[in-house]
Amino acid sequence: MGRIAYVNGRFVRHAEAAVHIEDRGYQFSDGVYEVWAVLDGKLADSAGHFARLKRSLGELRIPAPMSDAALKIVLAETVRKNRIREGLVYLQVTRGVAPRDHPFPDPPPVPAIVITAKAVDPAIAKQRAQKGAAVVTTPENRWGRCDIKTVSLLPNVLAKQKAKEAGAVEAWFVDDLGLVTEGASSNAWIVDAAGVLRTRDIQANILRGVTRASLLALIDGLGVTFEERPFTPAEAKSAKEAFITGAGTLVLPIVRIDGANVGNGAPGPVAKRLRHLYIEHARRGAD
Ligand code: PLP
Repeated sequence: MGRIAYVNGRFVRHAEAAVHIEDRGYQFSDGVYEVWAVLDGKLADSAGHFARLKRSLGELRIPAPMSDAALKIVLAETVRKNRIREGLVYLQVTRGVAPRDHPFPDPPPVPAIVITAKAVDPAIAKQRAQKGAAVVTTPENRWGRCDIKTVSLLPNVLAKQKAKEAGAVEAWFVDDLGLVTEGASSNAWIVDAAGVLRTRDIQANILRGVTRASLLALIDGLGVTFEERPFTPAEAKSAKEAFITGAGTLVLPIVRIDGANVGNGAPGPVAKRLRHLYIEHARRGAD
């Protein structure tokens, strides 16, 4: 069976799925997206992603394309039709189709919605987590509203390409103050030289990661010293451990930053434990 996509009210063959050339997502990046991890065929951290979708849409004044209850059914159906046990489901909502003109069309068009799902090989993901991955740093050059999950991702695309060309999986943006903001598609964490678990606070210009928020709640009961405090690339390179979080990577240990080993160059105990805890939590709560 080939892949199936949901496009504006219909399930269609992925290879034949299409949107209008004057979709404002295509013309202006005028849209938002969400990504859920799929574990055991169910959506991980479902409520957090729904809440963020609502917020992103609200910030851009794009109406919700359907109720949360209806959307839940369509997402589940997309996962089922694609027979995904472990993977990702991607949803994109744009302001809709209208003759090209920058201001919001008046009257507002019907928002356009696309949902796709893809399988991830759990053995490959596990192997990558066991080995750990590399990141590179790159100057922050995104707009000032990175808290909105918009489809406007060109700086992220360029940063990811830089990472790929360096044999890394992720790029960490570094702001004008010399502090890491986040990854191009993940949040950034370290266990610093003093043993303090640190990640950037959400008042900064970063995406409020759903995985990040869940992990914070899990850490609460562990007795780990934790601070929402930014760090420099130098602090990260001399840290005991580093890792990233996101729907695509869950919790992924980072063992190299700009070519320098973190710690002994192998995944550390905190990152390994948190990966395990997060996956257990996500499987338990998935719906
Ligand atoms: N930061 C950015 C820029 C992202 O694109 C993502 C995920 O796509 C994240 C952080 C992690 O967010 P989440 O944990 O909600 O997937």
